Amino acid sequence: MLAELWEGSLANPAQRIFWLYILSSALIALIYTLYQMYRHPLSSQDKTLGQQLKAYLLHPSALLDYRYFFIGTLIKVGLVAPLIISVKTIAIWVFKGLAPYIGTPITALSYEAIAILYTLCLFVVSDFSRYILHRWMHKNKYLWQFHKVHHSAPLLNPLTFYRVHPIENFLFGLRYAISVGIMTGVFLSLFGPRINMWTVLGANGFVFIFSLLGTHLRHSHLFVTYPKWLERFFISPAMHQIHHYKGYGRYNYGGYLAIWDKLFHSWLPSKAISTKPSFGMPQQEMQKYQNVSQLLFQPFRALIRLKRTS
Ligand SMILES: [Zn+2]
Ligand SMILES: [Zn+2]
Repeated sequence: MLAELWEGSLANPAQRIFWLYILSSALIALIYTLYQMYRHPLSSQDKTLGQQLKAYLLHPSALLDYRYFFIGTLIKVGLVAPLIISVKTIAIWVFKGLAPYIGTPITALSYEAIAILYTLCLFVVSDFSRYILHRWMHKNKYLWQFHKVHHSAPLLNPLTFYRVHPIENFLFGLRYAISVGIMTGVFLSLFGPRINMWTVLGANGFVFIFSLLGTHLRHSHLFVTYPKWLERFFISPAMHQIHHYKGYGRYNYGGYLAIWDKLFHSWLPSKAISTKPSFGMPQQEMQKYQNVSQLLFQPFRALIRLKRTS
């Protein structure tokens, strides 16, 4: 069991919880904390760092995140993943569908150039589809009932990333299969079997690079920003935290790239925030997501109520 967990996640650079991504986020967190302590030294009235850390790690919302992480992962692996169509199936459909319209494969590009182009397209298209679905989950009143689960956390913890309803997991899994499947089918049609992904330690090279930039701090209280010019292109941890602020859910839907938020007017850089609101939703909404059972079933209750009133 432990060996499988290690091979399938902590040792796998294609997974978010690859040890190097966790280590890089921890290092950024350490540097950020030391810098903040240098700028605002603790007074005798303040809690010590150890006390602050204990209160953070044992906060009721964090405890719920830990419990939900295990149950949610079991549901995702056992129930949701088998329902999602594979990338390979979609790629074959697209390839067969395009076959009558495409001639002989293009051979003018080198093997390396095709690999970089294919990897970049996968990264950009997958990121764009993530933006669209995330935005849709906020704008559609039925999908919002499921996405509320993720926004119900009053405190952000790296495991809040996994506080996602199984229905949302299913939709995002389907989105991934469709976007990557279509791109793979198109590339197979254009370049034949010479396509290959540019990988670093086995992961998409671009995902690898961006996962080192504090990916686990997006769900934390450490307001780690990038320079404003860089935030025009990439979502900083602070920008995702803004998305979780009460009343700010309409900003920063992006995953890795900020260009979609910029293009579709949902971009808000970290510098635009002077006072920090608390995380979550209105209090009467938050109260409905206090335990694992509520995280799983409250969206269905809300849907039934919506259906009755509409
Ligand atoms: Zn959201
Ligand atoms: Zn989030």
